[in-house]
Amino acid sequence: MDKSRYIEIFDTTLRDGSQSKDVYFSLQDKLRIIAKLDDFGIPLIEVGWPGSNPKDRELFNHVKNLSLKQAKIVAFGSTRKANIRSDKDQNLNAIIDSDVSIAAIFGKAWDLHVTAILKTSLEENLSMVSDSIEYLRQHGLEVIFDAEHFFDGYKENREYAFKVLKAAEEAGARTIVLCDTNGGCLPHEVYEITKQVVEKLKTPIGLHCHNDSGNAVANSIQGVLAGASHVQGTINGIGERCGNADLCQIIPNLELKLGFRTSSQGVERLRKLVALSRYVYELAHLPPNPYQPFVGKNAFAHKGGVHVDAVLKVPRSYEHIPPELVGNQRQISTSELSGKANIIAKAREFGLPLDESKIDIIREVLNHIKEMEYKGYHLENADGTLYLIFLKKMGLYKKFFELKYARMTSETHDGSFVVDGAVKIRVDDKEVYVIAEGNGPVHAEDLALRKALREFFPEIERVQLLNYNVSIADISAGTASAVRVFIEFTDGKDTWITVGVSTNILEASKEALIDGYDYFLQKTRNPAVAHKQ
Ligand SMILES: [Zn+2]
Repeated sequence: MDKSRYIEIFDTTLRDGSQSKDVYFSLQDKLRIIAKLDDFGIPLIEVGWPGSNPKDRELFNHVKNLSLKQAKIVAFGSTRKANIRSDKDQNLNAIIDSDVSIAAIFGKAWDLHVTAILKTSLEENLSMVSDSIEYLRQHGLEVIFDAEHFFDGYKENREYAFKVLKAAEEAGARTIVLCDTNGGCLPHEVYEITKQVVEKLKTPIGLHCHNDSGNAVANSIQGVLAGASHVQGTINGIGERCGNADLCQIIPNLELKLGFRTSSQGVERLRKLVALSRYVYELAHLPPNPYQPFVGKNAFAHKGGVHVDAVLKVPRSYEHIPPELVGNQRQISTSELSGKANIIAKAREFGLPLDESKIDIIREVLNHIKEMEYKGYHLENADGTLYLIFLKKMGLYKKFFELKYARMTSETHDGSFVVDGAVKIRVDDKEVYVIAEGNGPVHAEDLALRKALREFFPEIERVQLLNYNVSIADISAGTASAVRVFIEFTDGKDTWITVGVSTNILEASKEALIDGYDYFLQKTRNPAVAHKQ
């Protein structure tokens, strides 16, 4: 590997990232994320602050037993407290006890913080930096020094900010990290300041940027271009306030745009980036951001007809990189803006034989979609319902069942309410009528429908509801009280989403439920399409 072009990535999702307001990771979550980061080739993983709480100490006990492929675990902490000896500092001793080989400790680089917050002297702060680094090194640790508020400190008292870095260098820090702790710096400032630091120090320089001015990724990249060789960040940019620098953007930018290397595993592994991003969202209980560069669901989604037409001819006409390089995929969105090209591309995605020669069918599909969107349906998110429309218009649809009757009753008995769903379906010339009790009307409706279908199609048992979502439909015709219901289904392998719209939430739900089960039957039992999947 060409070391001069190697940038060391330092992940702090589990330490700084978990300081995000909405994020809580359990011990098991943290161990699973560490394994994923290791697998992705992240060399340094900061997992917690052993001196700050018993939970992080417990985590370090578990981390010792992990067998990692390549990553090194980093313990976080601060420089020693003012006016005590390092060997008496509980926080530094906790780092040593955590049994890691690398520590990252932060110290003050802004004189304002030293005098107004720590309330100690500028001289004592310099000793705190050097003593702490020396003490950890004496115990066999490599030390990364995080110069907290470095950029703000540099702007107000350049001379002192440099003295702090010098103290860290002289004490033997392996890496000195310039922190934009308040996240307010702009890219040109980070470039200029980092460049001066790189020129003055021999120690490798790193960046730790927060996103308060929306520039954490740009600032990190500018730092690298100015000569830094270490970048800290989190997966999906989770972190305090507006978050940390997003490694899901920094890594592909450094590797695919600038030709740097950030892992010994090579550029191939970037195909796992989307999976890594979604995994962290899942464990953080956060919805993925569809607009996130590189890894978001919309990052390579095309909607306007002209764009779709162009991207199908020459992908790079509207795509900055091939989506598969980061494990993402092109999405051809079908909405009322759609043109002919979208319909053909969508059919191709569905594995259905539709080309330009069948212009009448294409037009019918297009008109049908426009009509439905006018009524408040959002089809670009509901591939299950859209698939059924294609089958019907292309003459490939097979009718498996017919709903003859559905009724929901909700009654209160002795203070608790009881909901019954009654459903009659017809399959060929046979009818069944079933009743099911649920904990709410939609639940009862689903249970009854499923029970009836099971009589004819036992495999329907495999289908599960993953998600149920209701929103107000923005109907152009102006029926303000209409709702749109999205339901996500899975059979354990495939997932699909269906949509229903009505002024009655039960009607809208029924429509989406029926489409969901119908989709599954088409995929498994319709000879015209089932074998193609
Ligand atoms: Zn931070």
